[in-house]
This record gives sequence, C-alpha cells and structure tokens, in this order.
Amino acid sequence: RRYSSCMDAKDLGDELSKILVTEEQLRTRLAEMARQIEADYPADRPPLLVGVLKGAVMVMADLARELRFHAEMDWMAVSSYGASTKSSGVVRILKDLDTALEGRDVLIVEDIIDSGLTLAWLKENLESRGAKSVRICTMLRKPDAAKVEVDVAYVGFDIPTDFVVGYGLDYAERYRNLRDVGVLAPHVYAGED
Ligand code: 5GP
Ligand code: MG
Ligand code: MG
Repeated sequence: RRYSSCMDAKDLGDELSKILVTEEQLRTRLAEMARQIEADYPADRPPLLVGVLKGAVMVMADLARELRFHAEMDWMAVSSYGASTKSSGVVRILKDLDTALEGRDVLIVEDIIDSGLTLAWLKENLESRGAKSVRICTMLRKPDAAKVEVDVAYVGFDIPTDFVVGYGLDYAERYRNLRDVGVLAPHVYAGED
C-alpha cells in the first residue's frame, strides 16, 4: 500500500459520512482566535495555556504557535467518556497539572464542548486552586447538546450534534491524526449500547 502525504479524509473510504471543517478552515479560524486572545491579555501577562489531553493536542500545538507571546503550556487528562460516544457526566482526573495556579490567568484549551459537563467541572476546579482568572477556548462546540451553561470566551466553530472525529478527536483512539474534522459514519460505531 502507498500512502499519500498525510492521513486524508479521502483515504478513509466510507468511515466518514461528511467532512465538516477542513484543515484550511481550522487554520484560518485559529489565527482569528489567536488575534482575539492577544488583544484580551496584556503582553507582559500572558495566560497559562492548559490543554486537556488527549483531544486538545492539535489545537494546542497550532494555537500556541500562532500566538505572539510566550505561551506557557501545561496539561491535564480527565475522563468522562471512555471509548463510548456518550458523556457520562462523571469527571475523573487521570493526570493533574504540574503548575501552581495561585494568581495565574489560565486559558483552558479544548477540542470540543458537547454537554459542557467536563468544562464546567474543570473551570470550577481550576478556580478553586486560586487562579486569578479562568477562560475557555475551544475549537468546536455543539450548542444543541449543552446540558449546563458554560461561559466560553473563544469558540472556533459551532457544529451540529453529530459525533465528529479528526484534529485530535478520536473514536476508540482512532482518527486523531486526521487533518480535517469529519462526521463519523454511524455504521462505524453501530452496535455500541
Ligand atoms: P462534554 O463533557 O462537553 O459532553 O464532552 C467533553 C469531551 O467529550 C470532549 O473533550 C471530547 O473528548 C468528548 N466528545 C464530545 N463530543 C465529541 C465528539 O463529537 N467526538 C469525539 N471524538 N469526542 C467528543
Ligand atoms: Mg477534550
Ligand atoms: Mg475521546
């Protein structure tokens, strides 16, 4: 088998029912978001970027390189999903931050907000550690799926409630390195609960 230059949606056959956001659209929007973030934080007090593993790896890598200030990064891993496509509402810390948050301005960097349960919990958790401010930046948001109100300062794209993969987002650990965001074809996860 010969590979094309990267993992491309067209190599996936019928695994995606549609491409929702292209690599190009992600890049353009991310630059706009970065300009907004730069305008909102004083240059001598840039925020600590907190990425939520593993999904936010791609957003973090691209956003941090787009920002024109020293972007300190730290990571958390939380679990609310397992390998399933539905939110349990239960959040567990699998890996905590290395950084003390006392007095810090924190910008949470996320791949997607679905029910909002994970982010609502995380924001409160980081605030309780004495952060001066906690804002949220997410590449994707599903407004129709929101179960709790979460104040999100920066949103890339509002999308329908379909289960999506790519640009960091997985189904059973696959598709994360797909460069576009696509809707996973239902037959791929058919049979699950
Ligand atoms: P929430 O707590 O907002 O419902 O979901 C948060 C997490 O669920 C996200 O960070 C992501 O890991 C996962 N998630 C939610 N919607 C999707 C989706 O459409 N596709 C994938 N791959 N993961 C999702
Ligand atoms: Mg996430
Ligand atoms: Mg996942």
